[in-house]
Amino acid sequence: MTDCLFCKIVAKEIPATVVHETARTLAFRDVNPQAPTHVLVIPKGHYENAAVLAEADDGLADDVLKAADAVAVQEGVAEAGYRVVFNTGPQAGQTVFHVHAHVLGGRDLHWPPG
Ligand code: AMP
Repeated sequence: MTDCLFCKIVAKEIPATVVHETARTLAFRDVNPQAPTHVLVIPKGHYENAAVLAEADDGLADDVLKAADAVAVQEGVAEAGYRVVFNTGPQAGQTVFHVHAHVLGGRDLHWPPG
């Protein structure tokens, strides 16, 4: 998609701090981190949200979750615990409409979130 921020990161038209990459996923640091570890994991292909992704490509949502765990292990937060969040829709706070898993860790994470 030409007008999508995260598609531009995949295409390397916009810089990002990439921490993990597979054939079908990319993980990079959030520019406005909410925790010591705050990484976004995306499929390289464009899907608007988690529901569309799960419906459209069997197995790709699995790849995103596996990449999220790989990032947590790599960042050293897997053992203590980390959170994976898919904001879905405007009322949930989704601002970029290319599905992304927020991987958050490195501090106590409150529940329920705000
Ligand atoms: P959401 O609000 O769930 O759609 O999350 C979008 C996230 O993308 C926010 O946490 C932003 O801080 C993050 N973000 C926006 N632009 C960039 C960028 N150029 N590189 C990395 N993260 C970004």
